[in-house]
Amino acid sequence: MNTRRDLAVEGSLPSVPLLDVGRGNGPLRQELLDAIAAVIDSGRFLHGPDVAALESEIATRTGCRHAIACASGSDALLLALMALGVGPGDEVIVPSFTFFATASAAWRLGARPVFAEIDPRSYNLDPERLRESITPRTKAIIPVHLFGQSVEMNDILERACEHGIPVIEDAAQAIGATHQDRPVGSMGLLAAFSFYPTKNLGGFGDGGMVTTNRDDLAERVRLFAAHGMNPRYYHRVVGINSRLDTIQAAVLRVKLRHLDTWTAQRGVNADRYAELLADQADSRLVLPTASARNRHVWNQYTIRVRDGLRDRLREQLQRQGIGSEIYYPVPLHQQDCFKTLEPSRVPLRETEAASQEVLSLPIYPELTRGEQDRVADCIRQFLAATATKTRAA
Ligand SMILES: *Cc1c(COP(=O)(O)O)cnc(C)c1O
Repeated sequence: MNTRRDLAVEGSLPSVPLLDVGRGNGPLRQELLDAIAAVIDSGRFLHGPDVAALESEIATRTGCRHAIACASGSDALLLALMALGVGPGDEVIVPSFTFFATASAAWRLGARPVFAEIDPRSYNLDPERLRESITPRTKAIIPVHLFGQSVEMNDILERACEHGIPVIEDAAQAIGATHQDRPVGSMGLLAAFSFYPTKNLGGFGDGGMVTTNRDDLAERVRLFAAHGMNPRYYHRVVGINSRLDTIQAAVLRVKLRHLDTWTAQRGVNADRYAELLADQADSRLVLPTASARNRHVWNQYTIRVRDGLRDRLREQLQRQGIGSEIYYPVPLHQQDCFKTLEPSRVPLRETEAASQEVLSLPIYPELTRGEQDRVADCIRQFLAATATKTRAA
């Protein structure tokens, strides 16, 4: 497999991609092909035994009674809201600093996404500022475990509980993460996982999973994911068609066996960045941190670059063939499609600042030490060069 075809623009060093899924899949190639071949031979492309097996494996890992496979993480969020009966006139509290699907799930059901403020250190919903967004119409809160780190769930749950509001975890980026030793996906009433190829457990296409401890909600999620049909051709509610292909389940089961090793390596890479860049961290560069209460699974390693230098650093990395990405450049409350919503009830200053300053660096498990050195060197050089210029000015 040729993963080094891109040459860096400056010099002849190979590029350091932001993510290279080939490096994780390559060593498993034969195992993956065997798993896919078995599905082809069985002819059971939907509802095959691998789907049920993956569901029970995810249930076990997340410490949940139920896991229900579906077509994507976006559908998992939608199905969780459908199971709770969220609809027109309802409000759903979500962060604005997240992937679009967190908010669009509420919108698609006719509910209103209400954007709440984040904690600038974790980029996760700030429990201290949740109350100001709650109204009698609030029907759900969807905290997102962004970049692989759990939200301060105890505080969120406490406030939600005071008002009797259900919490749905958006755990799309955080499979394997824990908060006070409890796995993400097991703390809310329901949770959504994604197997999109860039997530820590990524398939060969789309896939998702809903987890819950409640028997009645699990049943409703299954019903809504299958056109509300039970028994066959009798429709009790209007649902959607959302299934996980057996081929995806088979691939994910092979990869799941390696998830702990990969997650540990992401942690090693994060610690190494912290070491390499510790002496650079100042008012202009902020490194990500993991709360002592959390096991962070580092789906992204996201630094903050202040003084309006973020985009220039990104260009410099690009010139040296180093991949980076801005998750997310436009907060959801500023998206065109949400312009018809009434303006946010609370100021979203931290959200807006984050979108101007964040930059995610390569952190995938197979990243080499040499590659990490190059990323750190590039940042070091950039900060040195810009510091001199600032002082000279
Ligand atoms: C990826 C992601 C989703 C959506 O998952 P898909 O499988 O791509 O539909 C939802 N929320 C967050 C925070 C995500 O990162």
